[in-house]
Order: sequence, then structure tokens, then C-alpha cells
Amino acid sequence: MLKRRSNNMFWYLLIVGAFISCILWMNNLNSQATQYTKNDFIQDVNAGEVERVVLAPSKDVPTGTVYAYAKSGEGYSFHVTDISQIEDLITELNAANAVNVPVYVRAIPEESWFVNQLLPLLIVAALVMLFFGMMNAQQNGGANGKMMDFGKSRARKSESDTKLQDVAGLKEEKEDLEEIIEFLKNPSKFTQVGARIPKGVLLEGPPGTGKTLLAKAIAGEAGVPFFTVSGSDFMEMFVGVGASRVRDLFEDAKKNAPCIIFIDEIDAVARKRGTGMGGGHDEREQTLNQLLVEMDGFTANTGIIVLAATNRVDILDPAILRPGRFDRKITVNRPDVGGRYDILKVHAKTRPLGDDVDLNQVAQTTVGFTGADLENLLNEASIRAAMDDRKYILQSDIQKAFIKVGIGSEKKSRVISDKEKRITAYHEAGHAILFHVLPDMDPVYTVSIIPTGTGAAGYTMPLPEKDEMFLTKGKMKQDIMVSLGGRIAEELIFGDITTGASSDIQKATMRARSMVTRFGMSEKLGLINYDDGQEVFIGRDFGQTRSYGEETANAIDDEVRSIVQKCYEEAKEIILKHENILHKCADLLLEKERITREEFEGLWEA
Ligand code: ADP
Ligand code: MG
Ligand code: ZN
Repeated sequence: MLKRRSNNMFWYLLIVGAFISCILWMNNLNSQATQYTKNDFIQDVNAGEVERVVLAPSKDVPTGTVYAYAKSGEGYSFHVTDISQIEDLITELNAANAVNVPVYVRAIPEESWFVNQLLPLLIVAALVMLFFGMMNAQQNGGANGKMMDFGKSRARKSESDTKLQDVAGLKEEKEDLEEIIEFLKNPSKFTQVGARIPKGVLLEGPPGTGKTLLAKAIAGEAGVPFFTVSGSDFMEMFVGVGASRVRDLFEDAKKNAPCIIFIDEIDAVARKRGTGMGGGHDEREQTLNQLLVEMDGFTANTGIIVLAATNRVDILDPAILRPGRFDRKITVNRPDVGGRYDILKVHAKTRPLGDDVDLNQVAQTTVGFTGADLENLLNEASIRAAMDDRKYILQSDIQKAFIKVGIGSEKKSRVISDKEKRITAYHEAGHAILFHVLPDMDPVYTVSIIPTGTGAAGYTMPLPEKDEMFLTKGKMKQDIMVSLGGRIAEELIFGDITTGASSDIQKATMRARSMVTRFGMSEKLGLINYDDGQEVFIGRDFGQTRSYGEETANAIDDEVRSIVQKCYEEAKEIILKHENILHKCADLLLEKERITREEFEGLWEA
């Protein structure tokens, strides 16, 4: 593969070389002809420099070319509109100088048109065709192999007319981007006070949540040129083309600063280096390296801001996230119920709604839908309306569309029943309460019952406050309690339990077991490490690898069970004590789907 590529490279260079020399040669002929003038010629004849003159009439008489050959053997030529005048001129000059410069007159050419005009054209055309043919073959019939475009960036420069108000919801994300817009509008305001503005901002989040839209809106608000390019545009057959496109892109951008470069789907280029299978990744690595070089190469206040979007931040090369590159990361989440309502309103602007349509209700039943899903939903509904020859959408159109969008195709945002939502709300509220009450736990940052792309029904996220080197016994127990909180809440409220807590329970068990077997935190079993690190080997009998007997094994199991049980009881007591908060929190979650630290802590004040 590699060999073949370099072979092709050779032909590519050869043909380009031939083509260029062909053009140079033709140019040269022309330029030489125009340099030598009739006046030069008269001077030369008078000076006795000219040995003989050849007159070459062209096909369109009386024009032609005069060739003057010097005694030294050199030849000069110039074009004239009337060749017979030159004959007369030489007769005159001969008489005046009392010499006899011989004049030869060529016959009017017959085939010269073909030789002079058509043949070079044909040669060039053949070369160009050959070149194109090769290009296409190499790109597997892919991209449009426009020769001149080849090493150039594929970025399209445009002025965006999207405005922030076209982006519904995403309030926090928009606030985060406000300063970037301000900076692009008025860079000196920032540089005056020595502020350094991030060079790169990475928008991260599931597909369809409006990252591309947001980037366009920033450009539109700031009123600056916007270069958009997709990560995959950099990937080409020839090694080095991607890198040269990156270089080209940044060059263009510098000329147009202040401006925005938007690299969509940046994961195509910025994947972790050296992880590819096989050897064919040198192109991507070169491209990525070039991108890093360019980002390091301009100073923060050049007026270029590089925005990038990805839905796979986990596979990005960590180098890209280093300070001075994409040092700002903005997570674009799936919208909560309010966000969904706003998005529906935006997309309903161009779609007349019947008076029975209740967008609020639609927003409530579409938990987990992204902006793109919602747009799609309304689009389906309008297709339905059109099929019925109606000029407006009815609620029933939306319901039918919902079934199609929600069930059709393996939707990541599957339709979630009210009951499931309620269970999730209480489950997460249970976790959240324990986070809040237990002294060694970090405060709650977000509680959400919007399903994640990874299959969790919701999540409670703490805000890590302090980095700690050690886990204390107390903290480990509190960890276990928090893990059990979801399950406890489900039990208390619904008198029944779901399978949703299985990973919580696994986490609690592992914690308890490591307290006993690794950290010597159990009084009964003492300061002994029972964990020889081999128990995870698959295909081996557990009994063979452990270094202790059956009795000890039973004792460990008992101890783990008793730790978990104690934690469970303590946690349950806490949740029971704050049952009013549990209800309030669950209700607020059902209403808003995602609540912030302030909203959660507000529940405790009332
Ligand atoms: P991403 O780049 O995150 O995959 P896009 O920005 O391409 O998503 O969004 C796709 C489409 O979904 C948009 O063109 C728009 O119609 C709709 N959309 C997504 N998010 C929003 C939003 N917050 N407000 C309005 N429309 C949205
Ligand atoms: Mg996108
Ligand atoms: Zn849980």
C-alpha cells in the first residue's frame, strides 16, 4: 500500500513538472518576442549588427514575424502588423548605410495554425485529462479532484446569518460563549486590560444537540467571517495533503481576522495518536500535528478563535486539550423540558399550528429528545398535515409523528413513560439527599433525569471540591451509602424495586469488599490483605487463586454483607428523616428534569 502510494506520487510530480515546464516554455516564447522591438531592430541594423533578416508572414496577411540574426549568431524576433513595410524599411536602411543586409521571405505557412496553436493545446489537454483520471482513480471516485484545490483548505468562508435567538434553550452554554462574541466584536476592549481570550473552544455533546448551530450563531452575532470545515475534509489519500490544508486554512484565517474557524467533527483528525490499527495513520497524525502547530503558532489575541465540535470527547488526543489550544470546553447537553419547549417554538415558527396543538405537552413527553429530534418530529408532523391536504398541523399529526420518530429506527432517545420518569426522579433524589447530608461527600452539582446516551436513566453529579490523597474509612462508608440511596428511595416510595439500581449495588459491594480485603478496615478480619489481585482472572477457579481458606472466605462475605447492611440502614434513616425533601426534589425533577446546585440547595432552605 505504502509502496504504491509513493509510486503514484512520482507520477503525480512528473506530470505536474511537465505541465509547468510546458507553460513556462510557451510563456518564454511570447515574452522574448515582446522584449525586442522594431526600434531595437533599426538600431541594430544601423550599427551593422544584423547579418540577415528573415520575414515570416503569418497566415493572416500582411501580419508576420521579423527574425533578425546577429553576426554573433543570436536571433531576435518581433511581430509586425504589415510585413511589406519591413521590406521597404530594410531597403531604405541598406541604402542609408551603404550595406546589403540580405532579406529572406518565407512562404505563407499552410499548416502553421495546427502546429502553432492547436498542437500545444492538444498536448496540454491530454496532460490535464491524464492528471484528472489519475486523481479520480486514486480517490476511489470520491471527492471532486479539482487540481488547483488539492492542497488547499476545503473550508468554506461565509458570513453566518444565524443569531443566538435561533438557538433555543442552551442558556448556560450561550452565557459561556458571550465573552467570545464580545471579544470578536471588540478585541481591543480586552487587550487593553491585558485579558487573554481562549484560542480554542471545544463544544462537546451528543449529536443533534445544536453544536453546529451554536457555532454559526456565534459567528452571526459577532458579524465576523466564519470558516467551516469538517474534520473529515482533512483526510485524503496523499500523506501531507491534510497538513497542507490545515496550514492553508490558518493562513486564510489570519488574513481575515478577526474571524472564526469552525472544525466540525474534529474527532476525525484529533483522535488519539498511535492508536490506529495497522500503519496507515501517518496522514491523520501529520494533520493533527499541523493543527497543534498552528494553534500554538498564533498568539491569543490575533483575533482568531477556533471552535470545534465533537460528540466523542473521550477519543480525542489529550494534546488538543492542553492550555493554549482548546482550553475551554463547553458541554452541550440534551435539552430539559423548558429547553425542548423553546426549541419546539423555534421550529413551529415556519409551521402553522392548529389551535389544539399543545407544545408544552409535546415538550413534556419528549424527554431525551435532542433539538434535531424535535425538529424532525415537527417535520414529520407537517408531512402528515400535507398528506391530508391541510395547511396547518394538528396535535394528532404530532402524535403520529411521535410514534414514527420515537419507535422507528433504533432511537437513542427512546420514549419514556411517566412511571419510569417518576421512579428515576425519586431514585436520583435519594442519591442527591445523601450527597448533601453526608459530611465527607462533595456538594451536588447537577441532578438530572434526562436519559444519557450511555443508557443511564439519569444521574446525580457531585462537584468535586477537594482533591484527596486518601480515602478514609468514614468516606468509604459514605460512598456506599450514597450508592444505596437510589434504591432506598425507590423502595420507600413505590414499595417495589427496579433493576435500575444494579450498577449502584455493584459499586457498593465492591467498595465494601475492598474495605475488608485490601485496606484492613474490618475489625473482625484485621490488618491483612486478602486481595492478591488474581480473583478477576477469567477461566480459573476462584478457590485456586485465593490465598485463604473457605472459612476466611465466608467471614469476608459476612463482613461485606454486614458493612453494606449497616450503611443501608443508616442511609435509610437519613432519607426517611428528609422525606419531605425527597418529595420536593422528585417533584422539581419531574417539572424541570435537570436541576442545578442552587435549585437543589434551595429545597433545604424552605
Ligand atoms: P450537532 O452539531 O450538535 O450535531 P446541529 O447543530 O447540527 O447538531 O443541530 C441539528 C439541527 O437540530 C439544527 O439544524 C436545528 O434545526 C436543530 N436544533 C438542534 N438544537 C437546537 C436548538 N437548541 N435550537 C433550535 N434548533 C436546534
Ligand atoms: Mg454538527
Ligand atoms: Zn443510581
